[in-house]
Amino acid sequence: MPSPVPPIADVVVIGGGVVGCSIAYHLARRGVRDVVVLEREAVGSGTTSKAAGGIRAQFPTETEVRLSQESLRVFRSFKDEFGVDPGFREIGYLFLVADQADLRGFEARIALQRRLGVDVRVITPQDARELIAALHVDDLIAAVWGPEDAFAGPAEVTAGFARRARDLGARIVEGVEVTGFALDRGRVGAVETARGRIATPVAVNAAGPAAARVGRLAGLDLPVLPRRRHIFFTEPFPAIPGPVPLTTDRASGFYFRKELEQVLLSPGDAEDVGADLDAPVDWGMVEETVRKAVHRLPVLEHARIAGGWAGLRPLTPDDHAIVGPAPGVEGLFLAVGFGGHGFQHSPATGRLVAEWIVDGRPSLDLSLFDPGRFGNGARPDAPGQHGPDAE
Ligand SMILES: Cc1cc2nc3c(=O)[nH]c(=O)nc-3n(C[C@H](O)[C@H](O)[C@H](O)COP(=O)(O)OP(=O)(O)OC[C@H]3O[C@@H](n4cnc5c(N)ncnc54)[C@H](O)[C@@H]3O)c2cc1C
Repeated sequence: MPSPVPPIADVVVIGGGVVGCSIAYHLARRGVRDVVVLEREAVGSGTTSKAAGGIRAQFPTETEVRLSQESLRVFRSFKDEFGVDPGFREIGYLFLVADQADLRGFEARIALQRRLGVDVRVITPQDARELIAALHVDDLIAAVWGPEDAFAGPAEVTAGFARRARDLGARIVEGVEVTGFALDRGRVGAVETARGRIATPVAVNAAGPAAARVGRLAGLDLPVLPRRRHIFFTEPFPAIPGPVPLTTDRASGFYFRKELEQVLLSPGDAEDVGADLDAPVDWGMVEETVRKAVHRLPVLEHARIAGGWAGLRPLTPDDHAIVGPAPGVEGLFLAVGFGGHGFQHSPATGRLVAEWIVDGRPSLDLSLFDPGRFGNGARPDAPGQHGPDAE
């Protein structure tokens, strides 16, 4: 029997991905009594289940660097706080650079990152080979190395947030889709579901790639653009011994890291496939992935692809998330558009969104994520133009 949808709540969080579960945990921790998460499928089954688990402090803005720094602290001690081992490993992030203009962009961002206390350095292509002996570096001019960057398991982290949220009294209802909002003079009065309505003064849209669809239910036009990305994996491949940094080839967008004995390979694609809930694997992408992979790691010529998956990254036109009160709909909060970094920013996002709802404002300036910045049809630039388009 599916668990019942309660008739009333203090806050309804729409979406039980890593972002929604973190928000629910932090709201409950701040003493909000009736927190209800509504998840149309199962906790963590959305795009969170497709993430590569990468965590980097190498972001282009102070706000995002600070989110990463807080999140890294949380991931390091996650097991103690949440009782779940997230498999946190400090493998570092490595960006391979082949172009002077690209390097200059990195240098500007590195100055900011170092001022904020991030350990990040420009190294030579030969230094990069010291980190990964199998790399082909002849066409590179430099690499950018962040040794404190890391990865962790998205499923474990989501389960940790959900578990502690429940311990603190939040209810997570799975298998229930939000189908509408009851608005009273521009204010949220209730959330409608396929299994009845919940009266609530506050709702949070944390619907990941389906955020625009949920926004439309309240009359909003949210520029959250779901774009498909693939990850393929090899059979066990000891010729590239791990651990290796999560390494992105800037020229081609290809990235890789090791997962136990296998090598994870992504072509770095970002395709509009007209879907916002789930995206099928295009096995035709294997060829492009292998071509990019073998160029950078020639030894992979001897590897066999054992499988793969695809997921939707919820991009925005300027590559920054959309976080804050929804313009024109009182009581509706947005925590959407996290692109390729929703997993890694989930700990800090949850804390700041809970602060905003409970205290009326967050303790960190989040104007970068202002939901009103795309008003009047303004859609600055295209996705991917603002710093490393890595995860
Ligand atoms: C291939 C790939 C690799 C990635 N790698 C990384 C990485 O290395 N590091 C990183 O930080 N990020 C990475 N990401 C991005 C990351 O996965 C997302 O930014 C993050 O998971 C977003 O979390 P979310 O909770 O917002 O979304 P989701 O996990 O999608 O959660 C939203 C939930 O809302 C539910 N939902 C939707 N509509 C409704 C409705 N109407 N009613 C009820 N429920 C609803 C969905 O079922 C879903 O479970 C990657 C993404 C992809 C695709």
